Amino acid sequence: MKYDYLVVGAGLFGAVFAHEMNERGKSVLVIDKRDHIAGNIYTENRMGINVHKYGAHIFHTSDREVWEYVNRFAEFNNYVNSPVAVYKDELYNLPFNMNTFSKMWGIRTPKEAMEIINSQAEAEKERIKKEKGTETFEAENLEEQALSLAGRDIYEKLVKGYTEKQWGRDCKELPAFIIKRLPMRFIFDNNYFNDRYQGIPIGGYTQLVEKLLEGITVKTATDYYDYIKRDKEFAGEPAESVDGNSFETILFTGMIDEFFDYKLGMLEYRSLRFETQELPEVDNYQGNAVVNYTQREIPYTRIIEHKHFEYGQGKGTIITREYPADWKQGDEPYYPMNDKKNNELYEKYRELAKDKGNVLFGGRLGQYKYYNMDQVIRAALDMVKETAH
Ligand SMILES: Cc1cc2nc3c(=O)[nH]c(=O)nc-3n(C[C@H](O)[C@H](O)[C@H](O)COP(=O)(O)OP(=O)(O)OC[C@H]3O[C@@H](n4cnc5c(N)ncnc54)[C@H](O)[C@@H]3O)c2cc1C
Repeated sequence: MKYDYLVVGAGLFGAVFAHEMNERGKSVLVIDKRDHIAGNIYTENRMGINVHKYGAHIFHTSDREVWEYVNRFAEFNNYVNSPVAVYKDELYNLPFNMNTFSKMWGIRTPKEAMEIINSQAEAEKERIKKEKGTETFEAENLEEQALSLAGRDIYEKLVKGYTEKQWGRDCKELPAFIIKRLPMRFIFDNNYFNDRYQGIPIGGYTQLVEKLLEGITVKTATDYYDYIKRDKEFAGEPAESVDGNSFETILFTGMIDEFFDYKLGMLEYRSLRFETQELPEVDNYQGNAVVNYTQREIPYTRIIEHKHFEYGQGKGTIITREYPADWKQGDEPYYPMNDKKNNELYEKYRELAKDKGNVLFGGRLGQYKYYNMDQVIRAALDMVKETAH
């Protein structure tokens, strides 16, 4: 069959793009190398609980059009992300807010909290200047940056170990720019996000993607590199597949550097390892969906208890420990590393991609951007607007 589009990747970007093109009367085939749709937002139902298989996903946005868009495909609950941090035997609310400060210093007012933070931060800046023998303070690494923004208590208990686990490096060896600000709220408010809209699709994210892909042919367990005859791919003619289909245009949402056989070099990513445990005898393991572990000695960064995303009341529970991991070829590339070096390399790939008029690149891996779900939807809708005719 002759298709207008081959969409590579049944994640959120691919699904929105495919849906919109299908609506516009284009013929679309979607493939994904995994054995399921929905990419990293995939949820699977186990023991009556929707498990976020590739990490906790909370939908949040201030983009009203995007919010209305997703609500066409799923009903969202009113979940508000309010993580708890564990440091030794102490528990703190996140993001840093009056509940956190009150617990840390036994204080009641915003004025007291600001005074403590400012005086600790100033003391750190003075110390660092003295040690370096400089007149002015300039943070040279992430540790200095965080100390100068939040003071020692918050840094030691809530920032240091967690950040070091996330990046696999000591805070002194990490660049200062990673932490531009440390958002703090001087009100008693544990809502992690500042966005206007927030929630979890009732019944899980997979259903949302299923709805987007309704009426569209999808082949899972199909890798692009096995499916498409690569010698014809860039000939300016329709691409051909091994099963005799042809495609005018390809939307590719996999890794852009892999697509070009890494010919300009390899982009870097961070990966994660998930350890999921079914606990049929435990109804409520930690009393919250997300609990962060901020000590470096504990190897995981957080434990997710999936049932709490949907206010689950049933018997048993499922938890997932999340371990940050270095990425090497063949691992899941969860996070693009958007530092200067990698962004520059990506720009070179983007230039190469411009010559491939019949191949579009989208999504977290195709555009090498640390997109949240709402940004992915916005980017996919924009691409449809720009390219559909
Ligand atoms: C741990 C974690 C937590 C997150 N939490 C949040 C959150 O709370 N809120 C939020 O808004 N966002 C969150 N995100 C971001 C969110 O996951 C992404 O914005 C979104 O999933 C990106 O969609 P995508 O379609 O671009 O990519 P993906 O979901 O990665 O989809 C790409 C698809 O392409 C397929 N593919 C790749 N190469 C090939 C190939 N060669 N052949 C065939 N198929 C291929 C892959 O199998 C995959 O299914 C989180 C991300 C991670 C990793």
